Amino acid sequence: MATSPYAVHEHHDFMEASREALNSANLQTALNRLGETLAAGNRTAFELLPGSSLLRDKARSIKDHTLAQLDQYLEQLERAVIQRGGHVHYAADAADAQSIVVEIARQSGVKSIVKSKSMVTEEIHLNKHLEAAGFEVTETDFGEYIIQLAGERPSHIVAPVVHKTVEEVAEIMNRRLNSNTPADAKALAQQARRVLRAKFETADMGISGGNFLVAETGTLVLITNEGNGRLTTTVPKIHMAIVGIEKVIPKLSDLPIFLKILARAATGQKLSIYTSMITGPRRPEEADGPEEFHLVLLDNGRSKILGSPMRESLFCIRCGACLNACPVYRKIGGHAYGGIYSGPIGAILTPLFDGLKENHHQPHASSLCGACQAACPVKIQIPELLIRNRAALHDQHLVHWAEVMLYRHWSRWMKSPRWYGWATWMASRVLSRLARSGWMQRLPGPLSGWTASRDFPTPPAKRFRDLWNEELRDAGE
Ligand code: SF4
Repeated sequence: MATSPYAVHEHHDFMEASREALNSANLQTALNRLGETLAAGNRTAFELLPGSSLLRDKARSIKDHTLAQLDQYLEQLERAVIQRGGHVHYAADAADAQSIVVEIARQSGVKSIVKSKSMVTEEIHLNKHLEAAGFEVTETDFGEYIIQLAGERPSHIVAPVVHKTVEEVAEIMNRRLNSNTPADAKALAQQARRVLRAKFETADMGISGGNFLVAETGTLVLITNEGNGRLTTTVPKIHMAIVGIEKVIPKLSDLPIFLKILARAATGQKLSIYTSMITGPRRPEEADGPEEFHLVLLDNGRSKILGSPMRESLFCIRCGACLNACPVYRKIGGHAYGGIYSGPIGAILTPLFDGLKENHHQPHASSLCGACQAACPVKIQIPELLIRNRAALHDQHLVHWAEVMLYRHWSRWMKSPRWYGWATWMASRVLSRLARSGWMQRLPGPLSGWTASRDFPTPPAKRFRDLWNEELRDAGE
């Protein structure tokens, strides 16, 4: 597992990282909480919202419509931002985005930068490049701040430090800040608040991401649960927003639909604590706000996805609900995935952004149970997209020959009633003899992976078709 804050997108051993995660008692305790907190909150919030399914369909169709005309909406957005005094920059990839930010910061004599939580800046490894260029960068979301002090990367889209217990957080903060704060969430938050307030006062630039961009008005919408987002975007003299091109929505009147579903999906709240709508820099008659507003529109592989069968993955509004619902994520946590985005949506996006070959385990990091799709506020067909990535693995000859042979034979058996009958007869006769009270504790060869952590249920000695035939015989048919 990576220990550097910048070893994101590292191509590590997924299986080894997952095993480590399964053996970490602290991580298992932290992840066990997800089912009763965020995942349960999502379910209850949608149950209590009348017409929630229709609302989710509507959000999905807005996304679909916008992506079909993305070039036009981006142009409209650009015009609107410029008209209101902002600047728009297009970044084709991570390197482009990094140099745009570094250049503007240098030209403006920036020394110190504060950041609000943003997955897209994690995606482009922005902190590393800003620090290498000599800027002081401070994450100001509490979870992100802890992650920065720990020298790690977020393990969850909306709860970056979900993998740590409060005792671990206290140890990190006391070690890095030379303090002696007790392992109490409130006391630790107060301590972070004191440090971060001073950073806001002296920062020359604030960097944020963005949840939505309204093409009609040029408005950046930021949704947070901490006040740091507002301080980041209003106190420093320059506000730089870095946002993926897929975050555009056509009109302001589309926004309430997304506001209703995003907070419910992410945390079970009706609305997040802060919804900030930023349209350009400070106007002459306004008391607060930055002197300059820059919007960096990041492509970084999104255009390629847009024209592919994986297009639907761009509907994602980064709520994290699929992570909370996923039985795999809830056992291995976010770091095991090796990319910035984890869980079911990460298992789709990381191979697309970062290469299928290097991330060939990810499309298989799912039981395809469909819990992710059920939790997704925009009803992304996540299992279907995972299967498409599995098919791409096969098409690009990235599957081991033994697996190809196994599935070839399996498909032949499944298609032939005669072979299927023979195979199930063999399985029921042989496996039921090897088993003790209906369970096998150890399977041979590559199948041993199954029994490494649980028993394998054996088929009964009599198959359904045996019982059926007996019924027919007894009935005299
Ligand atoms: S795929 Fe759906 S559930 Fe998962 S983060 Fe994106 S919007 Fe949320």
